[in-house]
Amino acid sequence: MLDPRVATFIHRMPKVELHAHLEGSISPSTLLEMARRNGLSLPANDLAGIERLFCYDDFLGFLQVYMICARTLCTGEDFAQLTYEVLKAAAAQNIRYIELFLSSMQHRLRSLDFAELLQGIADGRERAYREMGIQSGIMFDYGRQFGSEEAIEMAHEAVAGRKYGVVAFSIGGDEINYPPALFVEAFKVARAGGLGLTAHAGEAAGAESVRDAVELLGVSRIGHGIRVLEDPVLVEELRRCKVALDVCPTSNVRTGVVRSYDEHPVRRLYNAGLLMTINSDDPTLFGTTLTDEFLLAAERFGFTVDEICGLVQNAVRASFLPPEHKERLLADVIAEQEALRGELGV
Ligand SMILES: [Zn+2]
Repeated sequence: MLDPRVATFIHRMPKVELHAHLEGSISPSTLLEMARRNGLSLPANDLAGIERLFCYDDFLGFLQVYMICARTLCTGEDFAQLTYEVLKAAAAQNIRYIELFLSSMQHRLRSLDFAELLQGIADGRERAYREMGIQSGIMFDYGRQFGSEEAIEMAHEAVAGRKYGVVAFSIGGDEINYPPALFVEAFKVARAGGLGLTAHAGEAAGAESVRDAVELLGVSRIGHGIRVLEDPVLVEELRRCKVALDVCPTSNVRTGVVRSYDEHPVRRLYNAGLLMTINSDDPTLFGTTLTDEFLLAAERFGFTVDEICGLVQNAVRASFLPPEHKERLLADVIAEQEALRGELGV
């Protein structure tokens, strides 16, 4: 049983999230509303049906639903509404800063206009900042299965998106059949364009996939990376170079890459001294929130309040914020953690 004061601390503490997908954060009611507005049919036509749709027990089932969500977004207005709603839900958890992945190829395939889509996202971000003070950044997440040529195009598109709040370039999708070596050129373009670099790796494939993402693509952050423990030399390297891992425990259990919470390596990754953060990945699709993931860390994996505070500070350090913003946010987060700990006696 978690000490109720610790639970209160987790609910109220300032938070930072680095790994959440915009399309995987859509609520069932918004999904229905947008499908109706855009004249699209969904596998279910009411809230209960959509909620049932969000229950699957393997990665493929998840992926199908994810794609349905992505393809329901059609107009700048849809992207503005979704972004605003996602940031509102984040602000309600006292998330101060969040970096959201955008599955850019899902929208490119449908020939959506990127300027309209990104302007919509920027409008949603600005409104959320104005009303709730929450800051955010967008990361282009490229599906590896679309190959290396299109990746270069998307990297250029991501660089052009900087004026709309794009802060990073990433790869996701089929990790097993499309290794990092295929995307060296695309990452060169993104780096030259001033973007942060990250990659989903070490989730479906093993430690070598993480090593290649770091050494060939030059990423400073890894999405998941939970299989790095297979290679102690790599662990040492990641620790030395302060490469951060976005760990998302519920996602890993729901997609079946880890069989159960008991087998999840989150505690071992932390104990190995890695720069680790806690994240929700696709909160509505996995029925979780960032708050829930921290409660899980405390209750099931025994993370102390000290450790939880450190994990939030890690997220500020590993973010793609400019250095001066990072320092200011870190100072604010630490001051609020101290004040809240004093108030609650934890
Ligand atoms: Zn992800």
